[in-house]
Amino acid sequence: MSRFLSPRFAMLEAYTPGEQPRDQQYVKLNTNESPYPPSPEVIERVSREEVEKLNRYPDPEGKILKEKLAKLYGVKKENIFLSNGSDDILNFSFMAFCDGERGVVFPEISYGFYPVYADLYHIPHLKVPLQDDFSINYKDYCNVNKMIVIANPNAPTGLEIGLLEIEEILKSNPNHVVLIDEAYVDFGGTSAVELVGKYPNLLVCMTYSKSRSMAGARLGFAIASKEIIEDLEKIKFSTNPYNINRLTLVAGEAAIDSDDYYKENVKRIIDIREKTVVELKKLDFTVLDSKANFVFVENPKISGGELYAELKKKGVLVRHFEKDKIQDFVRVTIGTEDQMEVFLQKTAEILANR
Ligand SMILES: *Cc1c(COP(=O)(O)O)cnc(C)c1O
Repeated sequence: MSRFLSPRFAMLEAYTPGEQPRDQQYVKLNTNESPYPPSPEVIERVSREEVEKLNRYPDPEGKILKEKLAKLYGVKKENIFLSNGSDDILNFSFMAFCDGERGVVFPEISYGFYPVYADLYHIPHLKVPLQDDFSINYKDYCNVNKMIVIANPNAPTGLEIGLLEIEEILKSNPNHVVLIDEAYVDFGGTSAVELVGKYPNLLVCMTYSKSRSMAGARLGFAIASKEIIEDLEKIKFSTNPYNINRLTLVAGEAAIDSDDYYKENVKRIIDIREKTVVELKKLDFTVLDSKANFVFVENPKISGGELYAELKKKGVLVRHFEKDKIQDFVRVTIGTEDQMEVFLQKTAEILANR
């Protein structure tokens, strides 16, 4: 910490993203990106002509993209918020809907960024333990009268919580935002978007980073009541009105126009996931029931940390969390068929020596 940093950030522990090594060609299964490139239409429309317009600011409202998303998700433009990655929506939500008095609740094992935002804004937070099978018990979130943040499917477990349960949480906390982070919903989860019309306190966050192959473009969006969207816009226009650059807006529009391409990719990834699960079980892995583009797995022969390190030596990157209760697990992103074959092969080699 430098002598310049405000003491209010002295205790802040920043988020640690998964490794993005530049030194070696790894089979990269550690940050839940799509193994497939963006659609041909995206690649074509982010053209020289668009680059030539970079001297001009982008549309701060993102009107065209909002209209396309509204149509795709069956809501109105006023129900859509656009952001520089969905991390930005999380950031704005913690800033907007909580404070020192109004705390936040989220699962103890979930996306590692939630506690960082809570600490950043000095928000008292309650981390609710998962059940023994790593599932979320919705009752823990009923009548808590604080903002609630739940990733559904959850990360890094991949497990899903049902819409009826989410409804109970929404009903019992009518004066607080219930943020459902649907970063992985396209891989077999059930979206809460259909509940937006019924519950003004529901905020659904989605991202282009996973199912739409655009992690590098930084584009996220939220779907919620007009009331919530207006609050988020207020924060955005008080921090960085041009938070989505021109090229990302163009790419985002083109991606919606080629939605079928992504649906095909998602189908392929789900298919590869299911095959991978079968193979991992043959190697005696415990595999949680994933509705995401990753699997969370454990093997009695080897600790999570060791498996991670041994795989890295063999050129395969997976994610390990040095955290209570999940130390024995690794999280493996679903890659292409070829990549998963390499992963399974190397894993089998490592286990054969034990
Ligand atoms: C990847 C991820 C995000 C962030 O996605 P970006 O849009 O790339 O910022 C948010 N929440 C969860 C649970 C994620 O896994």
